[in-house]
Amino acid sequence: MQLIDTFGRKINYLRLSVTDRCNMRCCYCMPESGVEKLGHEAILSYEELFLVAQSAVSLGIEKIRVTGGEPLVRKGIIEFLGRLAQIPGLKQLVLTTNGLQLQELAASLKQVGVQRLNISLDSLRPEVFAKITRRDELGGVLAGIEAAERQDLPIKINMVVMRGINDEEIIDFAGITREKNCSVRFIEYMPVIKDVNWQDLVVPGTEILERIAKHFDYTPVVKGELSGPAREYRIAGARGTIGVITALSGHFCQDCNRLRITASGKVKNCLFADNEFDLSPLLASGDPDAIRTALRALVEKKPAMHGLTESTAGHQAFTMARIGG
Ligand code: SAM
Repeated sequence: MQLIDTFGRKINYLRLSVTDRCNMRCCYCMPESGVEKLGHEAILSYEELFLVAQSAVSLGIEKIRVTGGEPLVRKGIIEFLGRLAQIPGLKQLVLTTNGLQLQELAASLKQVGVQRLNISLDSLRPEVFAKITRRDELGGVLAGIEAAERQDLPIKINMVVMRGINDEEIIDFAGITREKNCSVRFIEYMPVIKDVNWQDLVVPGTEILERIAKHFDYTPVVKGELSGPAREYRIAGARGTIGVITALSGHFCQDCNRLRITASGKVKNCLFADNEFDLSPLLASGDPDAIRTALRALVEKKPAMHGLTESTAGHQAFTMARIGG
């Protein structure tokens, strides 16, 4: 079974958000005033989340990323991940996290079958880290990364690059890959919350690569199956790789293979589409055929591309914590 949309794209990747709650308050993700939290009754139960994951895999989804909010703050997450890992036909189970709880949880994540971690880390300087995340927790995240490394969990480090905030650290982040066998990905800042003058924050992928080229020689890397949208490179002699994700300056919509489900059961067939489909009544009814029919219909309606550029953002502002990135 395969999910193919009307533009011939094979949809095989589900991003499943398990909570809108987060123990950080990243400035690019949510406004300083915070966001209204969903009540517990609005959040899908693990049974419902499992049902949607199972239905999606039966339709041809091969990779699931569990995300949030911060997925590791939800009680029972390890057991849930263990159940997901057992779904026949699922080839990759990966997790996006801010890394704060990895010191306690890395061993369990490995044990239940999580295959890779994407860890958000936007600065190596404590004061900049605290300014971006509104939490003074750099040490905890670095210790979490080390804990994951001790478990031999493959790691991607995601840095959202923002001009005037952390762009001076691009070279330091690229340099990490010389010592560590990890992937560091530079993510173009996206105006999800649409703060004033957001255009000033965007550092286009081409500029990021030009700046790295002034310090290091690098060559393109051939990507593997089910790898993400990053263009990837290896600095000469480096153990790890660097990547650039250019959602604005060089969108990759033509290769988009994603479907997103929020923690309250809203399906988004494009990150920047304003319309969402509420799957929760079908999940509550527990009818896998109805869920599959709905997912197929949503894939058919997947738009050709988002409307975001380096200067225009036509979507309604949202917080990424609700959707999961
Ligand atoms: N709490 C987890 C974490 O920190 O990775 C998972 C959720 S977070 C919303 C998922 C990803 O979205 C992170 O890698 C984050 O950097 C990215 N993200 C959120 N807002 C963004 C923005 N405005 N531009 C680019 N990436 C963004």
